[in-house]
Amino acid sequence: MRTVYVNGAYLPEDEAKVSIFDRGFLMADGVYEVTSVLGGKLVDFAGHAERLKRSLSELDMAAPMDDPALLEVHRELVRLNGIDEGMVYLQITRGAPGDRDFVFPDPEETPATVVLFTQSKPGLAANPGAKQGIKVIGIEDQRWGRRDIKTVQLLYPSMGKMMAKAAGADDAWMIEDGHVTEGTSNNAYIVKGGAIITRHLGTEILHGITRAAVLRFAREAQMVVEERPFTIEEAQQADEAFITSATTFVMPVVEIDGAPVGGGKVGPVATRLREIYIEESRKAAV
Ligand code: PMP
Repeated sequence: MRTVYVNGAYLPEDEAKVSIFDRGFLMADGVYEVTSVLGGKLVDFAGHAERLKRSLSELDMAAPMDDPALLEVHRELVRLNGIDEGMVYLQITRGAPGDRDFVFPDPEETPATVVLFTQSKPGLAANPGAKQGIKVIGIEDQRWGRRDIKTVQLLYPSMGKMMAKAAGADDAWMIEDGHVTEGTSNNAYIVKGGAIITRHLGTEILHGITRAAVLRFAREAQMVVEERPFTIEEAQQADEAFITSATTFVMPVVEIDGAPVGGGKVGPVATRLREIYIEESRKAAV
């Protein structure tokens, strides 16, 4: 059985409890982070800690602990659960005031709820799926307007994954005003004539920690990066396509709405970026 963390305590997972009045449960009033683990170490913890602080501050929530304390909890859970490859999930909600009320509770009286747990995923880095690539479909982006805040409102992305599954695909790319915003749980990219194209940052997408690292590595390797919107049609005609996220790293996309991309085969740019990302992440993990 797993050991999880809830509000200061390390407990067996079946003993960890959160109130039914928790605003995370009642109102999706909470934020989260997912940090991957490679070789028992945390990948880009600093990036995730930084984005967490930004998500909290955008929602007028105070950080319940500082970065070193947060790192300690992450490390302790990895140690207690013997995680070699996998991830640490962290969620912070606005806590559990006595009554259900739209108005935010006074933070002096209602402390945040802090929950962390691990998921073991052996083979995360050596994932054979990365050699095959994945299939995506395009769906309308019907999420709220502040996708740059990493909130736990994941119903529409969850519905998107189900739409993909029903269509025989692996994931969905969301489209707004004719342009791709991002994948249901990842950032979206195409490669054309050697240039890596991905949507620019803004409130329309989550600012992926993996995205930042991959674009940095790409630029360091003298690759051309264009941060701009693109359409599904442009993606279907691209040389390559791929996604990035903390748990998939760089994952090639070989089919979009039934049309093969790059002849339906995994291309060299996505393959190279995946190698560089995993290699550099291992080196810098803490
Ligand atoms: N976009 C969305 C909507 C996501 O949910 C995620 C992963 N949580 C990402 C992008 C990728 O972000 P990261 O690289 O930080 O995992």
